[in-house]
Amino acid sequence: MVSGSMLLSLDKDWDGTNVQDLIVDLVNALSAVRSLSEISCEMADEKAVIRLALSCLLSNQDIERCSFFILGDDGSLSNVTGVSVTEQAGSDVLIAQNTMSFRMGEGIIGTAAATGEMQHSSNCIEDERFTSGRDSESMPGSIICTPVFTLHKELIGVLNVSHSEPDFFTVWHMRLLQVFSNILGQLITNRRLFQQMEIQIALRTAELERLVEETRRLKDYYVSMSMQDQLTGLHNRRYFYDQVELAFAQHNRYEYPFCLLMMDIDHFKSINDDFGHAFGDEVLITVAGALKKQVRSTDILVRFGGEEFVIIFVNTSCDNGKTFAERIRDNIKSLKWQVDGKQIQLTMSIGLYCMVPESSNDNRYNDIDQIIHCADTALYRAKANGRDRVEVFAGPLADKP
Ligand code: GH3
Ligand code: MG
Ligand code: MG
Repeated sequence: MVSGSMLLSLDKDWDGTNVQDLIVDLVNALSAVRSLSEISCEMADEKAVIRLALSCLLSNQDIERCSFFILGDDGSLSNVTGVSVTEQAGSDVLIAQNTMSFRMGEGIIGTAAATGEMQHSSNCIEDERFTSGRDSESMPGSIICTPVFTLHKELIGVLNVSHSEPDFFTVWHMRLLQVFSNILGQLITNRRLFQQMEIQIALRTAELERLVEETRRLKDYYVSMSMQDQLTGLHNRRYFYDQVELAFAQHNRYEYPFCLLMMDIDHFKSINDDFGHAFGDEVLITVAGALKKQVRSTDILVRFGGEEFVIIFVNTSCDNGKTFAERIRDNIKSLKWQVDGKQIQLTMSIGLYCMVPESSNDNRYNDIDQIIHCADTALYRAKANGRDRVEVFAGPLADKP
């Protein structure tokens, strides 16, 4: 707060001879305030903002030295940055001066902080509030210490300007510093809000990314679950219809042949009936594992339902498809289980449909359900002809699909 005597000192300066000086001072002051208002509140480092603010003040005013003591979490005020005219002239980099600090109410800086009011000492050497550096050569002649507040009236720190001469500062300086510290307080408030906002945005973004990732993971999980048979771990019928498009696309584009095998365990019902459903499940798991070993990673193997399995051997001729089917039939026949002191074996019937290039095919179907039906027809024939057999769909005349 400015005392009455200071106002008188302004009146004292206000004579005709000083009008020009006052105009220069006014222009300088406006420049300082304008440069301050141009500092971006997006700067990452608060000290850098304060340092820039000090340099605005110094470059436009007849002040020799200024510093900023920031209020720390421990309630003490420590010098975060300081700059003098000589330092500024020599370098663009403003040097933090020393690690001096004050407690609340200690010295003139601590008094400014504790009272929340501007402190002016026109003769530091005789001022009782001036407790520190009394013997030092850098002791100023006069000093103004201005508390700086956030928009919410919380103390940020104390802005200090000093000059080597006693009685140097006038009311003019004090008015300017009052305006300057208000704008600086606003700038620092904005910067802190901006930082908080950025932290919040970063936290929210990270949380959002985590949720998106979690959702994607869950979606993948449920998609894969919905395509998987829980008992055997093989893919299911839904997966089959999903993947079969690819085999068709490759066939249509490159004329790759493929073979579809429809497989059904013979007399499986009696296994359940004789040894129980749990044992039946065990058999299905073992058969699924054995089938898995018979296919390449590019082939499509699914549990189509119950004790029925389907394989598509991609890029496979009819002859090879028949060979593979026979190998599978042999393999399943060789499996053995021990139950109730008995050894169990079983057989499998297989219906085969060969999808061969258009030119060499007179029983071609382009619809997957039709193809499945053809393989099923062949399977039916395998059952009818005594089971434990592979039968190939022989065309619409021989095997009406
Ligand atoms: P066929 O030689 O004519 O194929 O005779 P089958 O007994 O195998 O034929 P059917 O279709 O009559 O019987 C299939 C049996 O498979 C009936 C059903 O209870 C059983 N089954 C289907 N799914 C499961 C399953 O997940 N676990 C068990 N344990 N049995 C199943
Ligand atoms: Mg069946
Ligand atoms: Mg069966």
